[in-house]
Amino acid sequence: MIHFEEAIEKILKNAHRLLTTSVSLSESLGYVLAKKIKARTPIPRFDSSAVDGYAVRFGELQKASNKNPKLLPIIGTVKAGDIVIPILRKGFAIKIFTGACVPQNANAIVMQEYAEEKNHAVSISRKVEKGENIRRRGKEFKKGEIVIERGKLITPPVVGMLASMGYSKVRVYKKPNIGLIVTGNELRSLGVKLQNGEIYDSNSFALTAVLHSLGINPVIERRTKDNKRSIKTALEEAIKLSDVVISVGGVSVGEYDFVKEIFTELDVKKIFWKVAIKPGKPNYFGTLGRKLIFGLPGNPVAALVSFYQLVIPAIHKLIGRNHKEVFMPVVQLSADLKKKHGRLEFVRGVISTNRLGELIVSPTKGQGSHMLSGIAKANCLIHFPKQEDFIRKGSNVKVELLRWDI
Ligand code: AMP
Ligand code: MG
Repeated sequence: MIHFEEAIEKILKNAHRLLTTSVSLSESLGYVLAKKIKARTPIPRFDSSAVDGYAVRFGELQKASNKNPKLLPIIGTVKAGDIVIPILRKGFAIKIFTGACVPQNANAIVMQEYAEEKNHAVSISRKVEKGENIRRRGKEFKKGEIVIERGKLITPPVVGMLASMGYSKVRVYKKPNIGLIVTGNELRSLGVKLQNGEIYDSNSFALTAVLHSLGINPVIERRTKDNKRSIKTALEEAIKLSDVVISVGGVSVGEYDFVKEIFTELDVKKIFWKVAIKPGKPNYFGTLGRKLIFGLPGNPVAALVSFYQLVIPAIHKLIGRNHKEVFMPVVQLSADLKKKHGRLEFVRGVISTNRLGELIVSPTKGQGSHMLSGIAKANCLIHFPKQEDFIRKGSNVKVELLRWDI
């Protein structure tokens, strides 16, 4: 049995970034940039107004006040999108709207709220700072500066940035082909009437849902009985089609747990079996060339937590995302926690605030590795360290926020 940290290290060492491809910007959400993005032009491209108001020479308003308003005749108007821009002559103002190009010689914009317009002139009763309300050309980025680093996940704001710079296509890392095989004599499809001893196959749905949240559709999805021949046929086919094979169930020590044995017959190189975590101890990981092979335990919470903790980091590496330390705030525990020492336990919890506005975390009801309700309610995993067996209510614990979106 190996430590969780060692398991992650071994997985990441064996996961290699996939090749790159070009995708249209509208399909790029959830991919990772394979090239850094440099500003092709200064950003913003031109000086523009941040408000609706009046373009002025700031020096002419230095003495303006409520008692002594300054009156400037208006010699023109400029709207967003106008290409021909009037020039601001001394002693005048130009009416301007948000997003419009700042006229030559103007060096401040007075907000409409501080001005009063009548008879083609504007009365301003307040001085302005030089550059006030002007968005300067090149202020955010100079031409050639790096705007977004390689390895950045494309999120909705990144899509917006790329569009604002005129990119209609982007170079990204490919997503892996993933095969999902679930095993178990007891598993039945939704819709059929269950006999005693039978259960619905929930793992296929839950794990496919996790893949969907990563923007991935499995290339093959099969359910088999606990029968060596059919498991082997399914795994063989999955390995042929996939970069990552995930088999679920049948990987423990039971007499009907054939999966490890079949992996060996299929020439999968075992990297580890059993990780000191709870839920999810009998986790298998192996490789076949560059293909990654996971055997996850079948208990539904163990399958989800193992997927979250072990498979997602591998997928992130394949799609080019830089694996970062998990962000783990320290939060006050609302109840005593007990366990046997020897395994790192991911206790399903809910973070909320108490009456003082402090963060507290409460373990959810239903901590059994078969109890989906406990993880369905949870918004975090409390890390209960391997060597500890008791944590007192009120102690500070490290929690990992559970995020089922990308
Ligand atoms: P196993 O890892 O095959 O020994 O299964 C452990 C437990 O998880 C058993 O109680 C199984 O019935 C249950 N289980 C296995 N696969 C699934 C599945 N696809 N959906 C729901 N429960 C499952
Ligand atoms: Mg089974």
